[in-house]
Amino acid sequence: MSFASDVKGELARLPRGEICCARSELAAALLFSGGIAWRGRGRYAATITTADASIVRRFFAMLKERWGITGEIRALSGDGLNGGTRYQLALSQPDSLALLKALDLLDEAMPFGLRATPTEALTHYSCCRKAFARAAFMMCGEIIQPEKGYHIEITAPTEELGRYLGEQLNYFGINVKNTCRKGKLVVYCKKAEEVSDMLTLLGASRAMLSMENVRVAREVRNRVNRQMNCDASNINRAVSAAEAQIRDIRTIDEELGLDKLPRTLREMAEARAQNPEISLSELGELLEPPIGKSGVNARLRRIAEIADRLRSGEEIELGRPAKGGRPRKAGPDGQ
Ligand SMILES: [Zn+2]
Repeated sequence: MSFASDVKGELARLPRGEICCARSELAAALLFSGGIAWRGRGRYAATITTADASIVRRFFAMLKERWGITGEIRALSGDGLNGGTRYQLALSQPDSLALLKALDLLDEAMPFGLRATPTEALTHYSCCRKAFARAAFMMCGEIIQPEKGYHIEITAPTEELGRYLGEQLNYFGINVKNTCRKGKLVVYCKKAEEVSDMLTLLGASRAMLSMENVRVAREVRNRVNRQMNCDASNINRAVSAAEAQIRDIRTIDEELGLDKLPRTLREMAEARAQNPEISLSELGELLEPPIGKSGVNARLRRIAEIADRLRSGEEIELGRPAKGGRPRKAGPDGQ
């Protein structure tokens, strides 16, 4: 079962609601499924066809309970392209006409005497706007499994109907976008929050919660990964800094001899050489007396300077002013 069919199944099992909402739902179901056929001279045949038997059962019950209309449910075998069985709720011609009148979908001025979108009265209340969107989704909706991403869409058979649906959703602050696909208007959202809001609006609260669970789990995982990457790069930085310090110390030892360094720097160099893996603060604690991280940094910087000067072949006499620099004599702190 796909996530989309879970959502449709949940919607199909919701309480059937008031008569006002029943009208909006049925109008949307007929219009979105393209289920109104003109049979000439004021005769129509209304059908609702879907792959989900529970949706057909919902409309069957709704018609019977609200209008006393008993439709016929047929199973249509797959046509090879779509595969699985589809279910069709079919109404007799007199029942079809009665229903179209009850739903205000007839208008002599329109082609085939049929309105392309419902009258304003049909979606006057916000409960009815939701009901309209719910049926549109049941008939023509798709939603991506939350593990794979966030995307919900409803494909309207005509541009006019798609825009009408978009208005109903915008009314609730859901900022849907439109795109054309194979001559049909697709109304969609792809932001996690909007997908979640739309599920709530349609009434699929169970699906919304399972989506939120996936979303929270994913966000936590991303945050942990970011933290780990950050830690890893801090460690890499610390390791390469320590490697450079060890190289400097070795250079000084080979070219000058560590014993030529002022005491504070020599102790620092020895402590680092013996403990290449520890942090600057830990290094500071090894000294006698212990010093802080910034003190360690300062001494290591001086060691690096000395190593650089040795590498560039400069004669070094510690305790004498460096070429163009400050006096190099170490202070009580060796800095
Ligand atoms: Zn209503």
